[in-house]
Amino acid sequence: MVIFKSRQPPINLPTDLTDWDWLFDSPYSPINNYPPDQLAGFQNAITKERVNWADVKKYSTYISTALVKRYGLKEGQTISLFSQNTVWYPVAMFAGLRVGAKISGASPAYNVEEMTFALKTADAKFLMTTPGSMEVASKSAEAAGLPKSNVFLLEGELPGYTTVQELIRIGRSYGESGQTPAFKLPPGKKNKDVCGFLSFSSGTTGLPKAVMISHQNVIAQCLQIQQITPPTQKKIMAVLPLFHITGLVHQMHLPVLINAEVVMLPQFSMEKMLDVIVEYKLGELLMVPPILIRLVRDPIVDNYDLSHVTRFSSGAAPLSEEIIQLLQKKFPNTGFKQGYGMTESCSCITAHPPDKFSYKYAHSGGAIVASTEVKIIKPDGTEADVGEQGEVLARGPQIVMGYLNNEQATRETFDEDGFLHTGDQGMVDAENMIYITDRIKELIKVKGIGVAPAELEDLLLGHHKVEDVAVMGIQDDYSGELPKAFVTLKPGHVADSAVGRELIEFVQDKKVRHKWIKEVEFIPEIPKSASGKILRRVLREKQKNGNDKG
Ligand code: AMP
Repeated sequence: MVIFKSRQPPINLPTDLTDWDWLFDSPYSPINNYPPDQLAGFQNAITKERVNWADVKKYSTYISTALVKRYGLKEGQTISLFSQNTVWYPVAMFAGLRVGAKISGASPAYNVEEMTFALKTADAKFLMTTPGSMEVASKSAEAAGLPKSNVFLLEGELPGYTTVQELIRIGRSYGESGQTPAFKLPPGKKNKDVCGFLSFSSGTTGLPKAVMISHQNVIAQCLQIQQITPPTQKKIMAVLPLFHITGLVHQMHLPVLINAEVVMLPQFSMEKMLDVIVEYKLGELLMVPPILIRLVRDPIVDNYDLSHVTRFSSGAAPLSEEIIQLLQKKFPNTGFKQGYGMTESCSCITAHPPDKFSYKYAHSGGAIVASTEVKIIKPDGTEADVGEQGEVLARGPQIVMGYLNNEQATRETFDEDGFLHTGDQGMVDAENMIYITDRIKELIKVKGIGVAPAELEDLLLGHHKVEDVAVMGIQDDYSGELPKAFVTLKPGHVADSAVGRELIEFVQDKKVRHKWIKEVEFIPEIPKSASGKILRRVLREKQKNGNDKG
């Protein structure tokens, strides 16, 4: 059996601590390891609003008490966080975790239909949002059957809605001895058995599903990454969205563990981000490929002195050879690292250790993180050896529990031996570094965010002119990939550019921007297998041949 094992020392994983106790009430907690004036925290880079870890502990305790005692929150219920990045996002997240709730993050760009789907799929009973997202939030809450009293504001004010500040006042009014005790693991249960988070991913096939992430998954991943994070990493820029697994782990949990200040950008703009990098003298920059692409291409970057930047860190999607080269040329004194993984692996399966923080290894997704095993399965079903390609499988304490209420997808993705089938193609080299070479699964990655072809196919099948459809990702210089639809029209309709435009606008009307289709190609028939499955490989070939000719 060829199993590639991590070459890092195994992590010392606590199995009896909840996520909250671990970060705020155990020997691991920075609160127990640093004097109060040296505690880092979350800060808004624009407004300068800041909460340190002791504030987070205090406010989360009050909020959780208010939610339990005044609003009836119960252990195991789900709170949905639907918000841009704000320091109150992690405070609310930890509040829910503290009393055994599950936290489900949703993209603040979702429209009513998408948000309603997210609330229903995660069976959310509470929703926290911001004034800018309230229109969508309130309509979705109503559609999903949540009473208005269970919709809260993380920041700002709006008539008729309770704010987090009000929850803090309510919680505080119960006095220190009246605070709801922190949730403890039920008898006989370990932290791997209790779900703390529900994040969305379409996995290898089908519609987005709620991924069940245990308390242990997050603790394990933080310890795995801590091991390869230099102690000099004292400031972390949070420009990636908090709802994504990268935000959950690298921008809200790991920083607490390593006592690193989180500098948050509520909304991405190139100019604001560059201002913040310079103002805070940020050394290592955690980014996704589309931002790195702009760093090397956007002329605005030349107005900034970024000579203090020591390292770029990329993840969530592939980065092209060309961009890696341009980055190294433009910033010759920097190092480079990557993380590779997915929501179902609670972020990283592999990541660069410090001795590989260089452009020499930039094409690699990194080395197998501690306590983790990787298998590569070749197309003929046998296990690949060093340097041979196949589907990447991974096993370790960060591999999640499965999909909520979806046993079939869980069985198909997580095998009996505990391996996650990633749907990515890659190989491991002699240095135990992984190289991701292709994607076997349907997923489309637009600016690092996953888009499920099945979701767009479902939508387009509902258009009165569409007989059949298949959606797949095509290369895009800026976004990495964008969706393209292959369409067969119903008899009587003419395949012309006007209908193509109509279909593109139909999607624009109904879906958030990163799901918009770039182009439509009309074909006489969608290639299908005998069992009716779309033969995406055939379409990929067709696309490739078309490009080669063009
Ligand atoms: P998500 O669940 O949104 O994080 O998406 C996970 C998928 O993104 C993986 O299965 C890969 O297809 C892709 N991905 C993540 N990180 C990388 C990376 N460093 N290089 C190439 N693809 C990546």
